[in-house]
Amino acid sequence: MRFGAHVSIGKGLAGAVTFAGELGCDAFQIFAGNPRGWARKPFDPQDVEKYRTALESSGLGPVTVHLSYLPNPAASDPQLYERSVLAMVEDYRRAVEIGADYFVVHPGKGGPEQERETALRRVAAAVKTVLQQIPGKTILLLENQAGAGTEVAGRIEELARILELTGEEERTGICLDTCHAFAAGYDLRSQEGAAGLLTEIDRLLGLSRLHLLHLNDCVGECGSHLDRHYHIGQGKIGREGFRNLLTDPRLASRENLPGIIETPAASADDDRQNLAVLRELSGKGDGR
Ligand SMILES: [Zn+2]
Ligand SMILES: [Zn+2]
Repeated sequence: MRFGAHVSIGKGLAGAVTFAGELGCDAFQIFAGNPRGWARKPFDPQDVEKYRTALESSGLGPVTVHLSYLPNPAASDPQLYERSVLAMVEDYRRAVEIGADYFVVHPGKGGPEQERETALRRVAAAVKTVLQQIPGKTILLLENQAGAGTEVAGRIEELARILELTGEEERTGICLDTCHAFAAGYDLRSQEGAAGLLTEIDRLLGLSRLHLLHLNDCVGECGSHLDRHYHIGQGKIGREGFRNLLTDPRLASRENLPGIIETPAASADDDRQNLAVLRELSGKGDGR
């Protein structure tokens, strides 16, 4: 596994590579612009050039671009839906432009339970549109959510259903967020629980469709649907939960599988500490 963090592009794309290196990452994740805004100005071509050079010599990767927070591809409101699809197209285009390996999307919120299938169809149609409009090798990943309120894809079944409706097997897959899975009711604290989740992904999708882990501990209880990330080992999932998942041979054997933290970071030391704990629990670290 290759551990890493979500890093800022506040100092440009090349700056993100520097940050990731300073944190001791193997892999990293970025936003393609302001995550809380719709507007995008084009990347500075010089920055993209510097980024490519820096990335090449850093040995870092895989690289993931995370879609901003505002788009909702499950939205029943036609205006918000259209805007969301456009934003996805634009951020995916940017991910392709910088040669990112993965592009992660939250499937969003989709209205009442009885309209769930319609909501899943909207997400699938959005993903199809993105991939039809922008050719590229960047694989689009749908992330499991905590399943709060009308959020879709708290269950792996729904992620699998969206991907089934999407087709495009080569260009799509999933990102598994541990905090979201735990909040949605998958109890990773027991070995059976952690192994069971992987077995379920394997049964519904095949583990080869799992391309990325978001490794976050969880403030809320199992099944609380509370999407609040916490430091690895210090939340309700705890050290054993992460050890269960990271040492499962089906994940441990995948040398290039990225595991990205999106944990609270008051300073770079928080990220360093969380990465050290992950490496320790996976049996790869020295426990510093
Ligand atoms: Zn996540
Ligand atoms: Zn989250």
